[in-house]
Amino acid sequence: MFGMRTPAKASRSRRTPLRTPPTEDEDSLLASQIDQEAKATQAPAKSQTQTEPSDDIHSVPQGSSPVSRTQGAQPANMDTFIVQAPKKAKAKTILKGRSAEARQLLIKIKLQLSNSRNLKGEIKTEISAAADKMYRLIREAETENPLSPVCERRSSQKWEINVGEGGLTKASSVNPPPPSFVNEKLIKNLEEKLAEHAKYIDNSTQKIGNLINCIKEEREERRQQPTYAAMAAGEPKKKLAERPALHSVAVTSADEQETGEQVLQRIRTAVNAKETGVLVDRVRKARDRKVIVGCGTREEREKVMHRLKNANLRVEEIKNKDPLIILKDVLHYNTDEDVLQALAGQNKNLFKDVKEEDFRAEIKYRRKVRNPLLCHIILKVSPQVWSRVTAAGAIHVDLQRVRVEDQSPLVQCSACLGYGHSRRFCKEPETRCSHCGEAHLKASCPKWQAGVSPTCCNCTQAGLDAKHNAFDQACVVRRKWEALARATVAYC
Ligand SMILES: [Zn+2]
Ligand SMILES: [Zn+2]
Ligand SMILES: [Zn+2]
Repeated sequence: MFGMRTPAKASRSRRTPLRTPPTEDEDSLLASQIDQEAKATQAPAKSQTQTEPSDDIHSVPQGSSPVSRTQGAQPANMDTFIVQAPKKAKAKTILKGRSAEARQLLIKIKLQLSNSRNLKGEIKTEISAAADKMYRLIREAETENPLSPVCERRSSQKWEINVGEGGLTKASSVNPPPPSFVNEKLIKNLEEKLAEHAKYIDNSTQKIGNLINCIKEEREERRQQPTYAAMAAGEPKKKLAERPALHSVAVTSADEQETGEQVLQRIRTAVNAKETGVLVDRVRKARDRKVIVGCGTREEREKVMHRLKNANLRVEEIKNKDPLIILKDVLHYNTDEDVLQALAGQNKNLFKDVKEEDFRAEIKYRRKVRNPLLCHIILKVSPQVWSRVTAAGAIHVDLQRVRVEDQSPLVQCSACLGYGHSRRFCKEPETRCSHCGEAHLKASCPKWQAGVSPTCCNCTQAGLDAKHNAFDQACVVRRKWEALARATVAYC
């Protein structure tokens, strides 16, 4: 019975009435069995004269309990125990479940209770009743608990079926619909998520559009650039160094009433180039009624200055500016001093024939690049330095071989897209789009996003062909300004 072997004498012992009132059939049966067990184990203890060896609970050696957990021999199941029966044969029986364990403990409690003869009968009855009740509670708990996870699983299955078969608004006729407030909440959540995703998709579409436009522009630029084969086959490009720097003078009239146009007429008369043979390369009107006269050589300029002074005109010599170079992708940690020191010290072979007084270099500004560790550095250098480094194409700076290119002296405002000033000194109230010329940034330009071809606002204003971006190097207005800016720069 219950995995226990009762001693042979147990059957001969007299039966006692139940100590606890029966509540359930099974429980009352159990109680009677436990009582029987208690009597049976008590019997050998009472009759010490009997010859049969007593292998009851008292004879179990210290340290080992009648109920012991298996180690290694059985699978690691928490609810599996081996009960050592109080018999010589030591039969091992496996009991499963908490109620079985509880039952075993209950037997043990009653066994010990009946062995403690000195305890009062009332106390014994109370403890016995409490143990019975505890066992009942455990049984009840075990029969109720396993149901709950099953119920949960069933309800979740219903939900899945409802969503799958009946859709969001129609409830399935087979399965009862979930409470309406849950349904509404679910729909609301789904709607919110859908709206969120729609926003993401919109953003992505816009970004993809921008990317496509960037790629198109890049391709167009590459198409315009001559290929290696074309370069090898065609005429070599005229070097910037071969472009003559003009030696110019600024001419103004002493009479403040005279306009720039009148000053220009007086210059024409005074120089009288057709008869005197004086060579003037360019003449242009500037701000404040000034007229700039440029000559190819210093000698020609001297002749012009002499004639103009005789005609009562104010003549001012314009000092040519030093050209600019750009050092590309220089490691940012190099200070301005480091760069200047490296230019002179690490590239001595380039400047072997440059006199010390002709060696000039100063840092103008740095330009950020995508890689935060690098930057472009723009330097103003003497014409001698400019011609050497642009011809070499690269210089050494600290632990780098840095690319060097000519840098245009023309400044274009990134806000109003005008020339001759930078964004910092811009006086225009609105930022203009380089793609269409309207008052917004190119990144948010609807025409650019839609892939419409660009319109240069500067060329539109000048009535020229404007089918290009306002930053395009091929822009006609830009080229005019570039020529003006370079006219005051000495490249040799
Ligand atoms: Zn501006
Ligand atoms: Zn635009
Ligand atoms: Zn243009």
